[in-house]
Amino acid sequence: MRVAALAGGVGGAKLAYGLARLLSPDALSVIVNTGDDVELFGLSISPDLDTVCYTLAGLANEETGWGQRDETWQAFSAVERLGGPAWFHLGDRDLGTHLERTRRLANGEPLSAITRDFCRAWGVRHPVFPMTDQAVRTRVMTVELGELSFQSYFVEQQCRPRVTGFRFEGVEASRPAPGVLEALGQADCIVVCPSNPWVSIDPILAIPGIRQAVAAKPVVAVSPIIGGKTVKGPAAKMYAELGIEPSASAVARHYRPWLTGFILDQVDNGLVNEIASWGIITKATDTLMTSLDQRERLAKEVIAFCEIIAERN
Ligand code: GDP
Ligand code: CA
Repeated sequence: MRVAALAGGVGGAKLAYGLARLLSPDALSVIVNTGDDVELFGLSISPDLDTVCYTLAGLANEETGWGQRDETWQAFSAVERLGGPAWFHLGDRDLGTHLERTRRLANGEPLSAITRDFCRAWGVRHPVFPMTDQAVRTRVMTVELGELSFQSYFVEQQCRPRVTGFRFEGVEASRPAPGVLEALGQADCIVVCPSNPWVSIDPILAIPGIRQAVAAKPVVAVSPIIGGKTVKGPAAKMYAELGIEPSASAVARHYRPWLTGFILDQVDNGLVNEIASWGIITKATDTLMTSLDQRERLAKEVIAFCEIIAERN
């Protein structure tokens, strides 16, 4: 079974980690959102890409969900003391990643090639691709503050403003990063990780050519919404503010035009029949990944489900 997984940060990285434990590097590739990328202090920061790579490398800070473990904050404290912008926390080790990425980008190297080299240095054996090498930036439209950059909404404003919509700046002129369409084309099944549909998965699908490549394959998505709530982050709040009741069904409806199979949490078992009535093969199980073993257990179920679905297709 060859799998291409689409992922944002935290939720995506957890399932990608489980899948990477079970599938060999030639049977799993991970395509990651870069719509959250931000330039700060002249540095190019790719939060979701780093979360996925750090997680696969075993370097991630599991408590925060971002940055590296055993992190120190000397540089950041110095910036804060000087009155610099202190809303975006950057650890010392993490800064090293951003320094080197920025240096190489300034030399004209593409993000995908830099990511490949970083993965090799960190011991990540599975291919990890940014969705694109071009700058695509998620913009969040809000009631209170108008249009915000994603990190301004997410970190600076702590997701407080009410959202009215999203825009992926630069997406029309972007192309899938080298390797992305090949990974999707070679996959027997595409797995949409339990990531935020609005700001982690939609930006990936908005890159010209990616949605069509995904739709051509059997696709299995895992719900990031459990019992109407998110485990972490603003996905449920976004659904509610956009006038949609947050639920696993709302996620399945979001992906409905191209979705083959859907995995939701066992607490949402009551929604299985409704989603199945749309022609989506639906399965309920424990989808909470609070330990490394739970990531692997869910990944095992996802792969088994992909096998059933790929066979039927
Ligand atoms: P971000 O880019 O760091 O916000 O991360 P993602 O978009 O990849 O993931 C955010 C989503 O992951 C949230 O909607 C969470 O509800 C979901 N999530 C986090 N942990 C889990 C988990 O253990 N199980 C499931 N099913 N969803 C999770
Ligand atoms: Ca993110």
